[in-house]
Amino acid sequence: MNQLNPYAWIDRSLETIKQANWYRSPRTIASLPGTEVTIAGRALINFGSNDYLGLAGDERLIQAAIAATQQFGTGATGSRLTSGHRQLHQDLEDAIARLKGTEAALVFSSGYLANLGTIAALVGSKDTILSDRSNHSSIKNGALLSGAKIIEYQHCDVADLRQQLALHRANYRRCLIVTDTVFSMDGDICPLPAILALAIEYGAMLLVDEAHATGVLGATGAGVVEYFDLVGQPLIIMGTLSKALGSLGGYVAGSASTIDFLTNRCASWIYTTGLSPADTAAALAAIEIIATEPQRRQRLWENVTYLKQLLSRVPNLRLIPSATAIICIELPDAQTAIDIGSKLQQLGIFAPAIRPPTVPTSRIRLSLMATHQPAQLAQLASTLA
Ligand code: PMP
Repeated sequence: MNQLNPYAWIDRSLETIKQANWYRSPRTIASLPGTEVTIAGRALINFGSNDYLGLAGDERLIQAAIAATQQFGTGATGSRLTSGHRQLHQDLEDAIARLKGTEAALVFSSGYLANLGTIAALVGSKDTILSDRSNHSSIKNGALLSGAKIIEYQHCDVADLRQQLALHRANYRRCLIVTDTVFSMDGDICPLPAILALAIEYGAMLLVDEAHATGVLGATGAGVVEYFDLVGQPLIIMGTLSKALGSLGGYVAGSASTIDFLTNRCASWIYTTGLSPADTAAALAAIEIIATEPQRRQRLWENVTYLKQLLSRVPNLRLIPSATAIICIELPDAQTAIDIGSKLQQLGIFAPAIRPPTVPTSRIRLSLMATHQPAQLAQLASTLA
């Protein structure tokens, strides 16, 4: 009978996922985002959020979202090219372009859609994509959607990238190199100056994903491009409004003609509803705060330094090399990661276990916030010890 049920494979597939300890389900957080969150009725210190600057629960973002909702309603009601465009969108795009030092920017409904649509618009079947093998899922799927020949180079390996360019570049019309600037599951930073030099040498476009760097790295929080003093270089920069900016949505920043082209050719921007007024206004308020409160970034880096110091004294802890606010503890297998994640939770710490297929090896991923207090970091370290 089962053979006649075309959906039977779904239960079998779920069973396989469970047997491999890869099964996941959402956890309900019943409080404002912050360094302390309520899960299953208990207050836990939160090391699981991407809200690096502590802005997602900031009163100024909340008020900006409320005011925009009262003025413009809850939904944008249409795509940006039909009925969904508001001055707020333009203001946010101008603010992103200013932050990034680019001529223009375009706001998407999510960072995932920004990567999917931008990559698919920039290259096609006559072209090639050179992609870091640890790039985010949205880059990998954007590359597949584009129909271009995909060549993955070894993680952050400039010599391998050069070799792949030397071997393959001449066989294709256009070439797009694409990399995360901060790798979300390891916390390391890509060697951007060397990658850019190769892009220029081989006549390749370079798209960088600043999702985990925007608001966090660089003197004004513009990201890794600024951190390496590469503002103004021929790059296309994408990122998200949903991490340090505490809102929802994604963006692409670049030359005026790149943005104009995407406005006309990027399906994941053209055929979807404009970002909600609330999300747009909250992100705009966050960019203002990033410009005027550099002390938040400074506090975040003080927290990173302090936690690394504390963790270096915990015996038998294997940290994955990281240069950012993402710090991962390497573990032998998925079951150990799940066990340690739930043990930490029992002891008052929320730090998610990350397992395959998200990452090649299992780990506990800690992400720090500017608003973590030293006592919270000390409690994490002593609990881990
Ligand atoms: N790129 C990277 C590197 C990310 O980590 C994420 C989010 N996890 C995205 C893109 C997608 O961004 P969003 O959450 O806005 O869809």
